[in-house]
Amino acid sequence: MLKVEHITKYYGDFLAVDDLSFEVQEGEIFGLLGVNGAGKTTTFRMMMGLLDYQKGKITLNGKPIDYRVTDQIGFLTEERSLLTKLTVKQQAIFFGVLKGLSKKEILKRLDILLERFEISEYKEKKIKELSKGNQQKVQFITAILNEPKLLILDEPFSGLDPFNVELFKKEILRLAQQGSMIIFSSHRMDHVELFCKKLVILVKGKSVIEGYIKDIKKDYRKKNILIKGDVSKEELLKIGGVLQVLEKADELEVKIESEEVVQSVFEYVKNRKNITKFMVEEPSLQEIFVAKVGETYEK
Ligand code: ATP
Repeated sequence: MLKVEHITKYYGDFLAVDDLSFEVQEGEIFGLLGVNGAGKTTTFRMMMGLLDYQKGKITLNGKPIDYRVTDQIGFLTEERSLLTKLTVKQQAIFFGVLKGLSKKEILKRLDILLERFEISEYKEKKIKELSKGNQQKVQFITAILNEPKLLILDEPFSGLDPFNVELFKKEILRLAQQGSMIIFSSHRMDHVELFCKKLVILVKGKSVIEGYIKDIKKDYRKKNILIKGDVSKEELLKIGGVLQVLEKADELEVKIESEEVVQSVFEYVKNRKNITKFMVEEPSLQEIFVAKVGETYEK
């Protein structure tokens, strides 16, 4: 288990990470969310032992994270650090050996991963000759060559097209199924929602929402009902527990204070004509975040 306990980091007088705690278990995919400057990269660097901090403790299976456990860790840094003059194969050997793998093992794993990422033909190509997306694939492959127990991914999806996002997700899910602990950062809540079960949202270095997404949504209580058909916005707003009615393209989104209100809305809707949709939805993470923290969060 990865345990981050009450980590606090100042750069001079500036408080960059404020009393942050979370845990990631084997097989769990954990999201660290926040806008630019929220403290995500700083947190990762502290986890990797690349930055000192003033307070707190970070442990992997009860032990500090240092050079003795490098072979169990994979880290995809935000600034893409590739050895651009080397070929894909040379780079894999360089980093693989640093992680204690034999050349034979590296080449075996490299072939499998290049195939999964559909870039086998680039094995002997220099990194600088590859497109950005393919360079990112190579960096990711390098980070997971050692099948890490702890995989840290700083903005892994940035700059990738939707097809490649899927390839990355598939591989991350495979590693999680094998028991890796995976922690990744993003400023896109929609990416995270479909993908991880547990998260922390940072605002100015402080956790403002944390835990399992399903619990966060349950605690929030509010729900949305999507309705298509001949209904009146004014009539809906008269129903007790209806907070807001928004007009979307060809439907209404009715925001209610709790699930108990669904029945009253349904009683009204069932007597109306041409109803083609009545759907109860949980609010998105983005919506919960905006309700809790304000509109300042950029998508
Ligand atoms: P991004 O999404 O832009 O990468 P982030 O969430 O990773 O942002 P950090 O890079 O961790 O954020 O930065 C957190 C805060 O600490 C920012 O306000 C940043 O300006 C500040 N900061 C980061 N590195 C330093 C440094 N070396 N010296 C002083 N301040 C720093």
